[in-house]
Amino acid sequence: MDKIKIMEAAVKKWDRIIEGKASDGGVYDCPPCRIFYFLLCFGCPIAEYTGKKFCKGSPYPRWYWHQLEAHDKIRRKVYCDECLKLAIEMRDFMAEIVEYLKKKKQAEEEAKKKRHS
Ligand SMILES: [Zn+2]
Repeated sequence: MDKIKIMEAAVKKWDRIIEGKASDGGVYDCPPCRIFYFLLCFGCPIAEYTGKKFCKGSPYPRWYWHQLEAHDKIRRKVYCDECLKLAIEMRDFMAEIVEYLKKKKQAEEEAKKKRHS
């Protein structure tokens, strides 16, 4: 299970929402949620990054409540400028986690090399 690949898929999901090609199905189409099981939210790279479960501490709650309060539609997608802003924040946050995981992996590999030399 490659967490970097999973998070890259999450970046792509939000890219598609920003482009207006997709809607947000929450836990049902969130790549890490689908693997890390949304009822328990255990081991998800987003939760590890924020230190909080269920996407708290990410831009997701703001997106979620804006969708509910401003649009209240079945599909969560980009309807207005605020939606677009929040979707971009979410995409950038996912990309930030990808970068964090890549750096972490690199550091771990370097530590391994040191131990063996
Ligand atoms: Zn909106």
